Amino acid sequence: MKEPDLSRWRARLEERRAELQTLSQDSAAARKPVELDQQSVGRLSRQDALQQQAMANAQEGRRAAELKRIEAALKRIDAAEYGWCEECGEAIAPKRLNIDPTTVYCAACAGALRG
Ligand SMILES: [Zn+2]
Repeated sequence: MKEPDLSRWRARLEERRAELQTLSQDSAAARKPVELDQQSVGRLSRQDALQQQAMANAQEGRRAAELKRIEAALKRIDAAEYGWCEECGEAIAPKRLNIDPTTVYCAACAGALRG
């Protein structure tokens, strides 16, 4: 992949990383352990609070996983390996990268690996 293309993908990945980090910071309060103190829970029942906390934690888990993939993609850009399939070494179609810029497989390999 040529340098201008790599810079473009890098910018996009960095933008998404910043977005995820902001979301993560914003939701930090929601992920705190639910306190028994009813005042901190407000009008929500403890049950609701626990449910919301579980959802916030699940979202955070997904964000953490995506951040990991983004970091890995940025490393591949640094190593000039970005955009090449890890399985067969062929170029990954830009269309495919557009849908998921962190993908490491071309469509054929991704399909084959899924079985
Ligand atoms: Zn492949």
